[in-house]
Amino acid sequence: MIDVERIRRDFPILGREVYGKPLVYLDNAATTQKPQCVIDAISEAYCNVNANVHRGIHFLSQQATDMMEAARDKVRQFIGAGSTEEIIFTRGTTESMNLLASSFAQAFLKEGDEVIISGMEHHSNIVPWQIQAGRYGFKLKVIPVTDLGELDMDAFSAMLSDKTKLVSITHVSNVLGTVNPVSEIISKAHSYGIPVAVDGAQSVPHIKVNVKELGADFYAFSGHKIYGPTGIGVLYGRKELLEQMPPYQGGGEMIKRVTFEKTTYNELPYKFEAGTPDYVGSIALATALDYVQTIGLDKIAQYESELCDYAISKLTQIPGMRIIGNSEHRSAVVSFLVGNIHPSDMGTLLDRLGIAVRTGHHCAEPLMDRMGIPGTVRASFSFYNTKAEIDTLSAGIERVKCMF
Ligand code: PMP
Repeated sequence: MIDVERIRRDFPILGREVYGKPLVYLDNAATTQKPQCVIDAISEAYCNVNANVHRGIHFLSQQATDMMEAARDKVRQFIGAGSTEEIIFTRGTTESMNLLASSFAQAFLKEGDEVIISGMEHHSNIVPWQIQAGRYGFKLKVIPVTDLGELDMDAFSAMLSDKTKLVSITHVSNVLGTVNPVSEIISKAHSYGIPVAVDGAQSVPHIKVNVKELGADFYAFSGHKIYGPTGIGVLYGRKELLEQMPPYQGGGEMIKRVTFEKTTYNELPYKFEAGTPDYVGSIALATALDYVQTIGLDKIAQYESELCDYAISKLTQIPGMRIIGNSEHRSAVVSFLVGNIHPSDMGTLLDRLGIAVRTGHHCAEPLMDRMGIPGTVRASFSFYNTKAEIDTLSAGIERVKCMF
C-alpha cells in the first residue's frame, strides 16, 4: 500500500498554505509537484557537475555527458524501449508532437494522404498536424467521441484505408480521464501497415507504459507531469522510422560534418537534438523516474484509481453535479460542472478555500464544442493526494453552491 503521509513529506510545497488555508493541490494533470530528491538533483547538477555536454574533453563535460546519457537510458528502461537511439529529449509533449508532425510530414506525407487523430486531443496533437497539413496538403480525419467520453471505435475502423499514413492519438484524455484502448488502436492500424503515435502526457505518470508491448511507433510525454522539472520531455520513436525522417531543427550537436556545400547529419538520437540540450533537466527527470519506480507504478495506479472512484462517489452526491466523461476506463482526472455555475467562478471560489483545480477548455476546445459546454472544472489526482482532500473539495463545492 501507499504510505501517503510519508510520501507527502517528500514534497516541500505540500506543506504550505494559501490564503491561510492548507493547500489542496488538485491540478496534477497540469503539472505535478516536485519531491525534494528532484529539487536536490537540479541543485546538485549545477553545484557540482555543470558543463556543456558531448563536445568537451574536460572532466566536468564528460561527467555531465555521462549523467545525461544515463538519464536517457533510464527513460528507455522506464518506457520499455529497445535502444537509447530511440529516445529523443525535447522540451515536453508539445515539442515532441511538433517535431514528429514536422519531420514525419516532410518524410512521408503528401496530398491525398490522411492522418487520423481523435475528437479528444489536446491542442498539441491537433495544431501541429494542421500546420503541416497546410504545407503538404494531407487531410486530418477525426475519430468521434461518444456521449460517455469514449472513442467511437467503429467509426475509427471505418476510417482506416490505404490513404491513412498515421494515427496520432492520446493515451489518456486530460479532460475526460478516459484511458483509450491504444493496444486495440495500434493493432488495427498495424494490420493496414499504418504507424501509430501516442500522446502519453497523461498516461506515463499514472499507468505502466511499455512502448514495445503496446507496439507504439512514437510515444511522447512531459517531464513536469511526472514529478520532474519543467522544460524537459521525451519523444520515443521507432528507429526504423526515425532514420527515414529529416531533422527538425538545425544547429550544433545534430551534425556530423558541415560545409557550405553540404551538411551531413549526426546519428540517432542526436540528429533531432540541435543545440545545447537541457542536460540538467534530463538528469533530474531520471531522478523523478527513479522516485516513481521506488513507489511502484502498479501501486500508484491502484491508489489513484481508488481516489478517483472515491471522488466520483462523493461528487455525484452533490445535487446539480454533472461529471463530464463517464468511461469505465479512466485515469486520475475528474471533470465536472455544477448547475449553472460557470467553471471559472467555481474555480476562483474554490481557490479562496485553498483548493487548486483547473478550469476552462483545458487546451481541448474541439472537445468542449463536441460536449456543448464552455469548459469544465477539473480535479486531477496524484498519489500524494488523500481522501480527506477530496472531502475538502466536495465541501468546498457545496459552499460555492450556497453562494449562488
Ligand atoms: N497532451 C496532453 C494530453 C496534455 O494533457 C498536455 C498538457 N496539458 C499536453 C499534451 C502538452 O504538454 P506540455 O504542455 O507539457 O507540452
